[in-house]
Amino acid sequence: MSLPIQLISTDFDGTLFAEFESPPIPEAVQTLIGGLQSRGAKWIINTGRDMSSLMEALGRARISVEPDYLVLVEREIHCHVNSQYVGLEEWNDACVRAHAELFARVRVDLPRIVAWISARFHARLYEDAYSPFCLVAGNNGDANAIHEYLNEYAHSIPHLTVVRNDVYARFGHEAFNKGTSLAEITRRLGLNPEVVFAAGDWLNDLPMLSRRYARWLAAPDNAVEAVKQAVRQQEGFVSKLSHGEGVVEGLEYCLVSAKRAQESRA
Ligand SMILES: [Mg+2]
Repeated sequence: MSLPIQLISTDFDGTLFAEFESPPIPEAVQTLIGGLQSRGAKWIINTGRDMSSLMEALGRARISVEPDYLVLVEREIHCHVNSQYVGLEEWNDACVRAHAELFARVRVDLPRIVAWISARFHARLYEDAYSPFCLVAGNNGDANAIHEYLNEYAHSIPHLTVVRNDVYARFGHEAFNKGTSLAEITRRLGLNPEVVFAAGDWLNDLPMLSRRYARWLAAPDNAVEAVKQAVRQQEGFVSKLSHGEGVVEGLEYCLVSAKRAQESRA
């Protein structure tokens, strides 16, 4: 019988990686994922980080396994080829074009948005290569209030979404997120969501924590309540263990359930 889970999509920060733990990515995760890879499964790190920031963190974590794919900035796909990560041009070009068009529309409104926030909060606002508007709020309470305001604005612009992770937020196009990127990789591998596992801890993970893209869902104990709720509602596994240890427990649990489901279909 084939491996019941053939594609593993894990968020990075807070899910796999805990900066202040030693090691930041537990050995047990590396052993489990590496073992599945050796049996043909593919692994995606699906993160909001950009390439250099993720490479640096992976290097410092000294992991012994390599992801087969990266989803960066919650939307760009890169494939592991000969020790390098090569961008999936067709997807990434479409992603860049869609964002350029969308952000041209958003730019007009930025002065108003920036003024509203600066009048009420002490926050850091800036532009980077991925969004004309990026936020680092002073704390999660401020971030919640600003998020609500940004969501209301986003509803007035077709295809615009707010991508939120902890005190960080930026804008994105609804067609390109952790979920749609996972779906594209699934499609390219000739797989379907029945054999896909996804794990995450924050709001920016919600687009991939959906049975539309992954039949098998898990969240570690440190996940925010909205994520735990979404995972539970879809019969996923919420671990009592944090970060990478929680991913190990979730993935092991899902492997057993997936195998059972596979046997009952046979
Ligand atoms: Mg996270």
